[in-house]
Amino acid sequence: MTRKHLIAGNWKMNETIPEAVVLAQEISNGADPATLDVVDVAVCPPFVDLKPVKTVFEFDKVNVALGAQNVYWEPKGAFTGEISIPMIKEIGCTYCIIGHSERRNLFGETNEGVNLKARALIEAGIVPIICVGESLSVRDEGVYLDFVTSQVRAAYAGIDAEDAVRTVVAYEPVWAIGTGRTATPEQAEEVCAAIRATLWDLFGEETAESMRVLYGGSMNEGNAALLLAEADIDGGLIGGAALKASSFLEIVKAAK
Ligand code: PGA
Repeated sequence: MTRKHLIAGNWKMNETIPEAVVLAQEISNGADPATLDVVDVAVCPPFVDLKPVKTVFEFDKVNVALGAQNVYWEPKGAFTGEISIPMIKEIGCTYCIIGHSERRNLFGETNEGVNLKARALIEAGIVPIICVGESLSVRDEGVYLDFVTSQVRAAYAGIDAEDAVRTVVAYEPVWAIGTGRTATPEQAEEVCAAIRATLWDLFGEETAESMRVLYGGSMNEGNAALLLAEADIDGGLIGGAALKASSFLEIVKAAK
């Protein structure tokens, strides 16, 4: 089964609107249209940047999709400070990151919340990028495969194969995020393969083999090619290196 690679930039809490427009223009100017035909590319800027970034990509007719970094599962109402799925859909998001370790660790996002978000996004036709990953202490204890696969099972509770196929999983070991300490291709592949085995168990072979499992955590232009060459790594969720257009585009090229 050949799966189309997905490279998604997670801009996190970076870039004011003018800065975001410049970064989007640099990506748009530097992107090779032929590469964008064979690699799915998305950027996930802060909410306030979504519309300006979309305007740049639309104006330049460049095939880069838009994603949000978080969302709330209720469609509307008294939820001060939250952003709804209809809002990100209307603005043009194709993807939405959920369960990022920064949200889990700093903002109390739970497996149950991730599951509610995944279900609501699927219902709305937006692809959730479901993040999972272990901390350094869990890795050192040697129980990381159980930990990560139980996060996967919890995220997909009540979701059937037909819907699961419209989701993406991102394996992001917490110890590799923003640390410059990338997982080796073998370490990343071990966990991504275990995630796929779990998806196989939940949804059967055909679905599991068609779903994309990304790696994230200090992926950059220097290490992307080797990571992306692994059998069960179908793309990357890129943080720091996504803030520099040339680095991001090198990673996109490596995903060809
Ligand atoms: P990083 O972040 O590439 O800066 O390590 C990845 C992520 O958190 O998605």
